Amino acid sequence: MRVAIIGSGPAGFYAAEALLRRTDTVVHVDMFDRLPTPYGLVRGGVAPDHQSIKTVTRVYEKTAARPTFRFLGNVGLGRDVTVEELHRHYHQIIYAVGNEDDRRLGIPCEGITRCTPVSVFIGWYNGHPDYRDAKFDLSVSRVAVVGNGNVAIDSARMLLRTPAELEKTDIAAHALEALRHSKVREVYILGRRGPGQASFTPTELKEFGEMEDVDPIVSPEDLAGCIIPENAGNAPQWKNLKILQSFAERQPGTKAKKLHLRFLVSPTEIIAGADGKVAGIALEKNRLEVQPDGTVSARGTGEIEVLDVGMVLPAIGFTAKRIAGVPYDERAKVIANEDGRVVDPVSRAVTPNEYVVGWARTGPQGLIGTHKAASAHVVKHMIADGAGLEARQLPDPEAIDTLLRQRGVQIVSFNDWKRLDDVEVARGERRGAPRDKLVDVEAMLEVLDQH
Ligand SMILES: Cc1cc2nc3c(=O)[nH]c(=O)nc-3n(C[C@H](O)[C@H](O)[C@H](O)COP(=O)(O)OP(=O)(O)OC[C@H]3O[C@@H](n4cnc5c(N)ncnc54)[C@H](O)[C@@H]3O)c2cc1C
Repeated sequence: MRVAIIGSGPAGFYAAEALLRRTDTVVHVDMFDRLPTPYGLVRGGVAPDHQSIKTVTRVYEKTAARPTFRFLGNVGLGRDVTVEELHRHYHQIIYAVGNEDDRRLGIPCEGITRCTPVSVFIGWYNGHPDYRDAKFDLSVSRVAVVGNGNVAIDSARMLLRTPAELEKTDIAAHALEALRHSKVREVYILGRRGPGQASFTPTELKEFGEMEDVDPIVSPEDLAGCIIPENAGNAPQWKNLKILQSFAERQPGTKAKKLHLRFLVSPTEIIAGADGKVAGIALEKNRLEVQPDGTVSARGTGEIEVLDVGMVLPAIGFTAKRIAGVPYDERAKVIANEDGRVVDPVSRAVTPNEYVVGWARTGPQGLIGTHKAASAHVVKHMIADGAGLEARQLPDPEAIDTLLRQRGVQIVSFNDWKRLDDVEVARGERRGAPRDKLVDVEAMLEVLDQH
């Protein structure tokens, strides 16, 4: 059985492991990634100051070492190879392409200078090649991060860390240099609903109280009307509330930087200054309403305030990117699927031998660990659907490499990646960091040529 997995993030690797563990048949897995480097958001999303989370890649290395696994990096579906070609070379295909687009606020002036989707900021500080040339004007003193998830927390924390804190991480060198000279002193995290509805996790929230040069600030008023469902038990929301209460009870701090957590506000407009760049954000005050089904929604009160900030980072979620030939669900903004089986978005008829895992299947829900069981679940469908498929004769396994090379694609193998890894780690040692990332695809390929 030959399977192509498109995308080498956690969901792709856990799917590969589940396939390679099959004892009833030998499965050959070719894992493609549009980047020369594997691991998706573990490399390009997880915050540089959370190194311990990145050690999960050791598990993926074990999968990559299995004899019937191959990594074909620097090969993009829709760019270098088509879905039709994959069907010719493989019995089954798994899309594990994540969510590479941002949800939009949909308010006036969202596209002006210094209002930048959070994925650009995250990609920039994490050395993602797509964003190595992004520019952030860090001469502003106040920044608003819109959203109440861990991504909002991560980006606020990265804006507020001291250079000494950042140096020890694998932050991209260009971002470290820019943040060294940053004038940002205050960051506002803005939530549409109350603390009881925030999706950030207690561990991440608590960290604001432990940073070298940051005082967290919460208004007791914002906590007063907090609604947490009675059946929430020991839910993280309770822990969040306790942490927020402890922040609200703190005496005014003397640290140089402030982190404000604001709730019950919805942005209605980005305010442009005379220079056309962000000069503020208009916010409508909300109140909470409990719906008959128990969900809690925010309703605008019509009361507007303008927050004086020089930069806005909308962090309200991500969507899957459209890829030519891959059915797309316009409503859910993911690859159209029924429980991981790819379907036609209109008729809902199954597209044979195509599957989807991870964020491309569900949208941006779930931590790295959640993909293990979720990908294994989809692999069960593949096994159920795939009986007898391996009888179909395919071209030689190397035929796909030949096709790609004829197109001028330089395929990066897992051994090649290990060489890049060694180079990055050696570069990092010079600054006392876990690694100093190569951020340019051309530079990565040159390093491989030199070796
Ligand atoms: C900023 C941020 C911080 C996070 N921090 C944490 C954390 O601390 N702890 C935690 O547990 N979880 C964290 N998460 C969540 C975690 O990263 C995700 O749950 C997980 O990475 C999703 O896995 P995935 O495999 O679906 O997608 P991804 O990890 O996004 O992987 C998708 C892969 O597909 C590749 N790809 C995309 N399009 C193509 C194409 N056309 N052709 C070939 N390849 C393609 C990409 O290059 C990428 O390598 C974080 C997420 C974000 C955004």
